[in-house]
Amino acid sequence: MDFSSKLLENAVNEVSRLPGIGKRTALRLVLHLLKQPTENTKYLTEALASLRNDVKSCRKCHNISDTVLCDICASSNRNAEIVCVVEDIRDVMAIENTAQYRGLYHVLGGKISPIEGVGPQNLQIESLVEKVKEGEIKELIFALSSTMEGDTTNFYIYKQIEKYAIKTSTIARGISVGDELEFADEITLGRSIVNRIPFAQSLKS
Ligand SMILES: [Zn+2]
Repeated sequence: MDFSSKLLENAVNEVSRLPGIGKRTALRLVLHLLKQPTENTKYLTEALASLRNDVKSCRKCHNISDTVLCDICASSNRNAEIVCVVEDIRDVMAIENTAQYRGLYHVLGGKISPIEGVGPQNLQIESLVEKVKEGEIKELIFALSSTMEGDTTNFYIYKQIEKYAIKTSTIARGISVGDELEFADEITLGRSIVNRIPFAQSLKS
C-alpha cells in the first residue's frame, strides 16, 4: 500500500495489528476516524489509554475489574461455596446473562495448549488449587469450552484437586462439541448450568 501521508500509514499499521483486521479494513477505519469530530478520536484514545493503565484483575477470581475485588466477589448475595471455572471474562459475561448462577467464578486466563505454548504455569491454576485447599469451596463447576484444550485443562485441574473433599461437576452441554460458551444461547447455557453433571461421569462418556 502506497500512502500519501506517513501519519496515515502509521495509524493504519497500528490498527491492522488488531486480530481480524487487515490493511484494507484498517485503512477504512482510520479514514472513518479522520471524518469524525476531533472529540470522538480523543474519547477513543482516552478510553484505550485508561483501559490499559487502570484496569485490574480481581484479587480473588482474576476477572477483569476496575477494583481490587470485582463486583461479583464483593457481593454478599453470591454463594462463595460454589466456584465456576472459566477461561475468560467473556464466559463470565455469558453465564451472568443467563441469571441462573449465583456462585462465584475463577478465571483461568486461557486453556492449556501445548501448540500455543500455554502450560498450567501460565494460567491461574495454582491459585485455584490453593483456594480449594483452604476449604471454603464445596463445589467446582468446570465450564470451559468442550474443545481438546478445554478437556485437557479440566482434567489437569481435576487431578490436582481430586484428593480434596469437594464436589466437581461440569456443565451439561446441549451445545455441540467445539462450541464456545460465549456463542451458546442464554436458555441453553442456563439450563446446562442448572443440570450440571458430576465431572467423573463426563469422563466416562
Ligand atoms: Zn472477582
